[in-house]
Amino acid sequence: MEELPKHFDHKTLEPEIYKRWEASGFFSPDNLPVGRSAFGGNPNKDKAFTIIMPPPNANGSLHIGHALFVTTQDIMIRYKRMAGFKTLWLPGADHAGFETQVVYTKKIEKEGRRFWEIPREQLYNEIKDFTLANKTFMEGQLKALGASADWSREKFTLDEDIKAVVYDTFKMLHDDGLIYRGARIINWCPKHQTSLADLEVVHPEVADTFYYLKYGPFTIATARPETKFGDKYVIVHPDDQRYAQFKDREQFDVEWINGPIKATLIKDPMMDMTLGTGAMTITPWHSAEDFDLAQKYDLPKEQIIDWTGKLLPIAGEFAGQHISKARALIVEKMKGKGLLVKTEPYTHAVPACYKCGTAVEPQIRPQWFLAMTKEPKKGGKSLRDLAVEAVNSGAVTFTTDRFRLDFLRWMENLRDWNISHQIVWGIQIPAWYKGDEIKIGETSPGEGWTQDADVFSTWFSSGQWPFATLMTNRPGDFEKFYPTDVMETGWDILFFWVARMVMFGLYRTGKAPFKTVYLHGLVRDKDRQKMSKSKDNMVDPLGVAGEYGTDAVRMALVSGNAAGTDPIISEDKIRGYRNFTTKLWNMAKFVLQFTDVFETNDGVTPRDEEVLHELEAVKKQVTSYLDEYKLHLAAESIYHYTWHTVADKLIEEYKPRLNSVDKADAAIAIKTLMKVFSECLKMLHPFMPFVTEEIWGKLALRSPSGEEGTMLIVEKW
Ligand SMILES: [Zn+2]
Repeated sequence: MEELPKHFDHKTLEPEIYKRWEASGFFSPDNLPVGRSAFGGNPNKDKAFTIIMPPPNANGSLHIGHALFVTTQDIMIRYKRMAGFKTLWLPGADHAGFETQVVYTKKIEKEGRRFWEIPREQLYNEIKDFTLANKTFMEGQLKALGASADWSREKFTLDEDIKAVVYDTFKMLHDDGLIYRGARIINWCPKHQTSLADLEVVHPEVADTFYYLKYGPFTIATARPETKFGDKYVIVHPDDQRYAQFKDREQFDVEWINGPIKATLIKDPMMDMTLGTGAMTITPWHSAEDFDLAQKYDLPKEQIIDWTGKLLPIAGEFAGQHISKARALIVEKMKGKGLLVKTEPYTHAVPACYKCGTAVEPQIRPQWFLAMTKEPKKGGKSLRDLAVEAVNSGAVTFTTDRFRLDFLRWMENLRDWNISHQIVWGIQIPAWYKGDEIKIGETSPGEGWTQDADVFSTWFSSGQWPFATLMTNRPGDFEKFYPTDVMETGWDILFFWVARMVMFGLYRTGKAPFKTVYLHGLVRDKDRQKMSKSKDNMVDPLGVAGEYGTDAVRMALVSGNAAGTDPIISEDKIRGYRNFTTKLWNMAKFVLQFTDVFETNDGVTPRDEEVLHELEAVKKQVTSYLDEYKLHLAAESIYHYTWHTVADKLIEEYKPRLNSVDKADAAIAIKTLMKVFSECLKMLHPFMPFVTEEIWGKLALRSPSGEEGTMLIVEKW
């Protein structure tokens, strides 16, 4: 029997162990020994268990949030693999369109280059090289964290076959009348020069000024005087007695910012009588509500602010000025003309780009939209209704009920989704133009056709990820592994991603893409603070794994972390689990001294029976926690049992028997202890895969039937 080294040298051993797993082929469901005799009577041998890994954005290093998802999913996967399922964890990487372009823009700016001066094709190729390099680097990091994913099935969101699936979906939706291109009001980031989906806009509260301006016989109120140059319609509520003397559609002369204009009154119930003076003018090009009113009454719409945030010629002497500077000057001029009645402090939510914080300018621009609440031409339910039905019927369940309610609430007020971005990086929209003709969904329709310049929102392609990855993999994979079992991801992308996957999955395949949604929270530091570079409280997962071992980091991430809550992690916590790794190693060294008497006696004492009975109870408890996705409780149970029952009490109690001159009883005692310890290793394996695999190999613990070549990763649960 081989001696154990003094310590578990995680730095050397972890990569070695990972290589052994990869070489075994057991990461692939095709190679699993689910039918072998050790798995005799395996009730799960024909069952698949599948998780599609949320593809990390290939634009940087893995952070602690990634380590959390790797740990959580790897625990589920390793458990099901040991339980005899045909287990598939399909990895991938996301090109992450806008996100990556933002990262790359920063890089370019640091280098002193200007993004908009680089030709599109060159930019695309530069970002592609950057993304692919990051992708390779991240795969190495995922492996270092112990991810037992099937790398032979790995997919990238820009793989040609994935793009083909995305194109097909686009064409199907278009044929069904659910995709349309329309000039509607959109959220425009003047810095990033792209439209943003509603979900990509944040709404920070801003302390602002409310300006009361004289507008003919009215006093109107606005927070944005710089947009008012072209306003020719004033809106009041039909029931507002303050304006009863004016008739609907009455016209009047107004001396306005740059001279006299003719204005028209419209009485519409959409006006809020309690806001300001109850009278407002409309700017249809730069306000969603005003746009709706202009549509309703077929009013003209005129652009006041250009795409970079500068005033257009309609602003007269202010033309060419940036709105951030122009406002004060415009107000000054109005004051001079006696148009400024008064000002009031005003705190309101100002929409901003979620990436750069620049105030979003509503603009009218033709964009591609996906209809959320419209029924497809071929018949059936709208995308929204499909998703709602899947959740209401229980076809899709949430491990945390709060998220089910959030999901349904979001669905209630769903607007059509702007799926196009004016960016370089990503999948260009497969719409082709030649004169008045348009072709949809083709890769390359031939001479004379020009492709739409817009690029899909990254969520449009990643929303199709579960079926796209399986449709484009091995023959039969889709049939075998779809629908998948669990979607585990951060709660912050419930609407961005999870909801869209449910819609697309149902639309394309008739089935929800997964059965269970497990959402994790945001990793926080020991003081429950959000981790950020500015607070200097970031925990680098690979850094701490290098210091304390990956197993310790994984245990620290899962312990105390129920689904849906924000896990707390600190170096102290990780250090604590490093001590547990050491404890396991020392337990292994201890039992190893007695293995010469192992397997020599079939007898059992009442005390051994009691011990084994307790073990069974622990196994049952841990198994049921895992089945209920209460991973933290499973981890804590097995940790306490191993340390506080087995190490602290049982080993101490058994020492005299093991050292006794009664060799028969010593053999019984070591057999019981070995059984208990080996079951602890099995139960700990999904959580702490490296140290348990190493000990298992060193102790030469074999499956009950004594078959050759078994590794802990495929030992029967
Ligand atoms: Zn921006």
